[in-house]
Amino acid sequence: MINLLAGEMPHRFTCSAAGCTAEATVALRWQNPKIHRGDRYKTWLSCGIHRDSLYSFLADRNFAISVIGVDEL
Ligand SMILES: [Zn+2]
Repeated sequence: MINLLAGEMPHRFTCSAAGCTAEATVALRWQNPKIHRGDRYKTWLSCGIHRDSLYSFLADRNFAISVIGVDEL
């Protein structure tokens, strides 16, 4: 992906991290057991760079997390 074209060609999936406009390569599906029931979950998209920090943010809160590729969405 050529950077100059990023503004004209939006990614199909963009990273959810604040201020990041990189293309997302993975999706973190997470559940807060206190507010989400059954198969309700939230999905955060992430580029390769933010994957670990987003995961840690959720893991620190003891949320249930699964990581899948964006092609599985
Ligand atoms: Zn990112």
